[in-house]
Amino acid sequence: MAKTWQADLLFPELDFFYRQAEQTLGHRFYYPQGIYRPFLSVEEQNVWMGKSSEVTWGPYIEKIDSQSLFPHQVYNPWGGIILNKCGYVDVPKFMKSVSDFLTQTNSIVYEYFSDDLIQHLPDGVCYKDCRAAGIIYCTGTDSIFSKQTSDLPIRKLKGETLTVEMEEDPEMIYNRGVYIVPHQGKQFRVGATYETRNITQEVTIEGRRELDQKLKELIRIPYKIVDQNWGFRPTTPDRRPILGSMPDSKNVIIFNGLGTKGVSLAPYFSAQLCNWLLGEGKIQPEVNIVRFKSLSSKSSVAV
Ligand SMILES: Cc1cc2nc3c(=O)[nH]c(=O)nc-3n(C[C@H](O)[C@H](O)[C@H](O)COP(=O)(O)OP(=O)(O)OC[C@H]3O[C@@H](n4cnc5c(N)ncnc54)[C@H](O)[C@@H]3O)c2cc1C
Repeated sequence: MAKTWQADLLFPELDFFYRQAEQTLGHRFYYPQGIYRPFLSVEEQNVWMGKSSEVTWGPYIEKIDSQSLFPHQVYNPWGGIILNKCGYVDVPKFMKSVSDFLTQTNSIVYEYFSDDLIQHLPDGVCYKDCRAAGIIYCTGTDSIFSKQTSDLPIRKLKGETLTVEMEEDPEMIYNRGVYIVPHQGKQFRVGATYETRNITQEVTIEGRRELDQKLKELIRIPYKIVDQNWGFRPTTPDRRPILGSMPDSKNVIIFNGLGTKGVSLAPYFSAQLCNWLLGEGKIQPEVNIVRFKSLSSKSSVAV
């Protein structure tokens, strides 16, 4: 229950971005709505009663209640907090809409991008029959497979989710230990785990048990587990994205390290990267690739 890094900048930008994307693409995938978090103790309730009057927290708090707010659906004997400026993005639907749009405008090729086919020229790069000023690598944890990007300090943080079917719809997004967001029909997504050590490329019984246990502690609604998924989050040592040119190749541009928060970070920082590429702005120091000195030994870096 901490305010996320740069929330006051990121949230207005993501709200603008996803609304505009819905208009451009003609599909719905952005669902702003409140989140309910039950309190775990009277002490926590008191802390939040105090915080609600603070200027920095006010806009993010819809309601605080010491009484049980959704007693028939959630375990919340000490009440809870309804947070504002929340919601969810249906990412598969968003990705499909973008992908269809790019296909219709003949702007995308679906194939494996191979470093071996890149020609580095004095004023840019050439890939097959495509010439460009540079390449932007947004390859997540697969950055390790490219000669150009394998030195990036990207670490895999595995996450698992459950898909559950519920007998009744939750009245809000509930989030404590796990989140529950609508998926399709009576199905809801429950997530997520955070696993740095056992990063096998499969779902695990431990992941299922952990999520099932946390869900049972949160809600009273009967449910059935119908699916389980996994993925890798591309994290960095300081938990900030990585933007900018590779030090030894200024035409190789990086947009990575979105970690656990790609949905909220990407709108703001993709705009920052674009403005920098157009010579109309800077990359802020906390996310600039130059902060990783070990990458900068070979040549000077554009900032
Ligand atoms: C279980 C789980 C829950 C999460 N929950 C949330 C959440 O609630 N909110 C949130 O904001 N974020 C969440 N995230 C994090 C979010 O998914 C990431 O921040 C985001 O996916 C990072 O986006 P990306 O495009 O940088 O990398 P990725 O999503 O990893 O995409 C990189 C893509 O590049 C492709 N690629 C790589 N190399 C090549 C190549 N040579 N040729 C062609 N294609 C290539 C890969 O196939 C991949 O599709 C979650 C992640 C997980 C795993």
